Amino acid sequence: MRPDQRGTTGTGAGTAGRAHAGTTSPAASGIMAGYPEPADKASLRRTNLSVMLRHLRENGAQSRTHLAGATGLPKATVSVLVADLIQRGLVREGELDRAGTIGRPHRMVELEGRWICGIGAEIGPDHITVLALDLSGAIVHEDRRALDVPALTPQAALREVGDLVADGLSAVAERGMHAIGVTLVTQGSVDATSGTVAVATNFGWRGVQAARELRTRLGRDAPPVLVENDAESGALAEYLAAPSADVRELVYVTGGIGVGGASISGGKLLRGSEIGHMKLDRLDRPCACGRTGCWEVAVGLQAFLDAAADPSDRVHDLSIDLAERLGDLLGRADAGEPRTLAALAGIADDLALGLGILVDVLNPPRIVLGGYFAVFGRYLVDAVQRVLDDRRIAPTAERVVVTASALGLSNAARGGAHLALEGIFQDPSVVPVRPVAQDDGARSA
Ligand SMILES: [Zn+2]
Repeated sequence: MRPDQRGTTGTGAGTAGRAHAGTTSPAASGIMAGYPEPADKASLRRTNLSVMLRHLRENGAQSRTHLAGATGLPKATVSVLVADLIQRGLVREGELDRAGTIGRPHRMVELEGRWICGIGAEIGPDHITVLALDLSGAIVHEDRRALDVPALTPQAALREVGDLVADGLSAVAERGMHAIGVTLVTQGSVDATSGTVAVATNFGWRGVQAARELRTRLGRDAPPVLVENDAESGALAEYLAAPSADVRELVYVTGGIGVGGASISGGKLLRGSEIGHMKLDRLDRPCACGRTGCWEVAVGLQAFLDAAADPSDRVHDLSIDLAERLGDLLGRADAGEPRTLAALAGIADDLALGLGILVDVLNPPRIVLGGYFAVFGRYLVDAVQRVLDDRRIAPTAERVVVTASALGLSNAARGGAHLALEGIFQDPSVVPVRPVAQDDGARSA
């Protein structure tokens, strides 16, 4: 039967894209595992609505003719499906498609951003970020606050998150938008089914029922709350931000106090792994996880801050927002300050060491660096790329390309907002048909 959410099985891998492998473009076949298998007429229609909506998300505005060509569905069927999606307020008619058409130009169809949004709420060791995306992926609300999470009880920290999410819900409601879901994005290992943070070593959390806690804070009328890992959310945000024809496979590695990773392969998000705890620290220092010599002890944010500045330096002050502290250090690097540059060179060496292993194991065409690694991209990317190029076994071997995320420090929250919207992309019929209004009716079906 139809799995209704990715993550309910806990593995994330499996049947994505199988239902329509022959009829959709490669880009339209599932980011997330568990898209519906058509069993009857109603579920076939749901599946086709889902294919349309995902195709528009991954490829932008299209004419009906183009949609038919790209999905393999008959044009008449596409017209009926588009009319349905317009009635649900999920797509709208856009500009006329004048490119390369002979005769009467066709009207483009695009995702409708006005009514529905998803909210991502990221909790990091030193900050919380709330970000809302509309259905077209545009940011409609963003808020960030410094918070010393390890100093608080989980309940107190989640109370702060709840307040910031409540502010976000009010802000989108004022715009006339409906928030369809909230994803709490956190470090560590997460049980998506029960909404529990199993272990987040950098917060000192163990077995925290985060979804239930946050729902209690938000009250009865709040949208459903999911919990997801930050690296997986970040990988999803990177994938959806990239031109789809370009990126089908990537490994995303994010640097904060912890170091996390997740990969997307064949358009599917795979579960992340504890790559920050690979035994790679040359000095074998103790890690918050209880072991010694973990990679994140060498390349995590704390290692960089310690190498770059004395403990009394303001860049260690947790009451100052991380973006500001990192901006301060970036300024020093740009001014050629030797200690900051030496710290970055050390991070690049140890980063390349771990990425080399990931390349050997996963052989991805692309690695995207996120978190603080992205902030210092111009000091890290080229250095890491050189090492990875040098260790290729043969000059003809496929080259991995390293890039820095362009999405900024809020990219895990952005991925969380995408996940909150995912239910609609899996089954657009969960959104009821809207009462017909002047401006959202079909002009030409
Ligand atoms: Zn560790």
